[in-house]
Amino acid sequence: MFECNKCRECCRHINLSDIYKELDDGTGKCKYLIGDLCSIYEERPIYCRVDECYELFFKEHMSLNEYYELNKFYCNKLRRE
Ligand code: SF4
Ligand code: SF4
Repeated sequence: MFECNKCRECCRHINLSDIYKELDDGTGKCKYLIGDLCSIYEERPIYCRVDECYELFFKEHMSLNEYYELNKFYCNKLRRE
């Protein structure tokens, strides 16, 4: 399982990917992020779900471990910037 520390940096920088543009509140942050919480967590879009995304889009292209490592790389990059 992917270990997300819930820093929410990804939700604060959705403008970095066009996939999330419908969620942008106009400042680059997701309009559903309230404080540090996703206000639609149970109904969040598929592309906000790490494991479901792997099954649907990445499974054919890399191992689960490689996918998690890639996710971790970008999480760390977001937290440093
Ligand atoms: S940036 Fe990574 S660790 Fe932080 S909330 Fe997003 S997925 Fe989780
Ligand atoms: S819908 Fe929720 S999990 Fe997805 S970017 Fe917005 S706040 Fe983050």
